[in-house]
Amino acid sequence: MALVLRGGRVVGGTGVRRADVRISGGVIVSVGPDEAVAGDDITDVSGKFILPGGVDAHTHFDLPLGDGTRSDDDFASGTRSAIAGGTTCVIDYATQFRGESLNRGLDNWHGLADGRCFCDYSFHLAVTDWNGSVADELPGVMARGVTSFKMYMAYKGALQVDDGVLYEALRRLEDLGGLLCVHCENGDIISALSRELLRAGKTGPEHHPASRPEELEAEATGRLLVIASLAGAPVYVVHVSSGASIKKILEARSSGQTVFAETCPQYLYLDDSLYSPARADAAKYVCSPPLRDGRNHAEMWSALSKNIADVVATDHCSFNFNGRKDRHNCDFTGIPNGLPGVGSRMMLLYLGVARGLITMPQMARLASENPARIFGIHPGKGSITPGADADIVVLDPDGKSVITAETQFQNVDYTPYEGWEIPCRIESTYLRGERVFHMGRFLPGGPRGRFVRRRAAGVF
Ligand SMILES: [Zn+2]
Repeated sequence: MALVLRGGRVVGGTGVRRADVRISGGVIVSVGPDEAVAGDDITDVSGKFILPGGVDAHTHFDLPLGDGTRSDDDFASGTRSAIAGGTTCVIDYATQFRGESLNRGLDNWHGLADGRCFCDYSFHLAVTDWNGSVADELPGVMARGVTSFKMYMAYKGALQVDDGVLYEALRRLEDLGGLLCVHCENGDIISALSRELLRAGKTGPEHHPASRPEELEAEATGRLLVIASLAGAPVYVVHVSSGASIKKILEARSSGQTVFAETCPQYLYLDDSLYSPARADAAKYVCSPPLRDGRNHAEMWSALSKNIADVVATDHCSFNFNGRKDRHNCDFTGIPNGLPGVGSRMMLLYLGVARGLITMPQMARLASENPARIFGIHPGKGSITPGADADIVVLDPDGKSVITAETQFQNVDYTPYEGWEIPCRIESTYLRGERVFHMGRFLPGGPRGRFVRRRAAGVF
């Protein structure tokens, strides 16, 4: 028996149209004006938006820190909150730590995620220890369905790689058809600035943004783009937070480079006033790059509305405030970096639509279609077209939601958007044709997310 979502407003990357969506065997079989046949199970969704399930291309679930602790959302709670927020696929950053092979890093993440995910999932692989044998593993890792990688220009002494390594990795990945994602901040200067601040007795969380000013993000972005140009390789810039970095990306594109740009809701809505020393909870907002001066928001929204930025992901990495983030007033560099957000991304993007900052088709592209295309899973994910996985969000624009820590599914004791009223409701989420979340509740059934093997990435 087929399922038909009848009469909704189906949102694609290029427009919105009233149509039925007919689903069978976990995939979309047809989209059109009158698709139901005798015996179909029909759900009336008239007046509702029918969006492709969200693809969050940047999460860190169950992330081990150096000290033996881990981030607070694991793959179960993280993907569960993804589903409740209308995201049906996440691409998490598996990490090869120093001394590990790439395959070991990937095996570790499969061990954390397999059998525990409520939405579909895939991995990028962050490479922190580059050498000849690691480079030789790349084809095998790509054959395992992981076609995008990550390097950090920040976190000196831990994750950071040098410019020569970036160049070599970009050359190698260009040959193989892989895509490198890069965290652009100048880690050397950040390390020096942090020491300088601490020596001056500036130890509280309010000093975190001064240790990583936006010039150091723009500088690293520009430097990466020169390196990528010399390597002749495409590149994906994660979590762009400021207009200055967007400018670097535009310059590189105008000279013909292929550059993808991602930003996150925190850089669209939250600003550095949250680090005010007057706030007792400034440590909640410690993430990298830090929240910026609010004048960047208009530039970031403009980058979305002009299709300059390609993807809105979350960089979800949650740490409880009480007992974790609040424990480092004597040294802000010890505060675990990251914000929760996988559960609120789609609602926050819709808030941008409601405010007239982006359109519904742009929302579908930024949240779903573009990351699916860039990371090699389109059209199976990220589109409502025949043959695609029936990963679907029914969004009610007449509904209302309030984001609160109390009601969220994220396993963390706060949300940066506490009390925010959102003029929509995620009514239902379908994963491969099965309704898994409806009207605030999960339907019976355990974790049924599948690992998604990806094709060579970066083809747009
Ligand atoms: Zn990240």
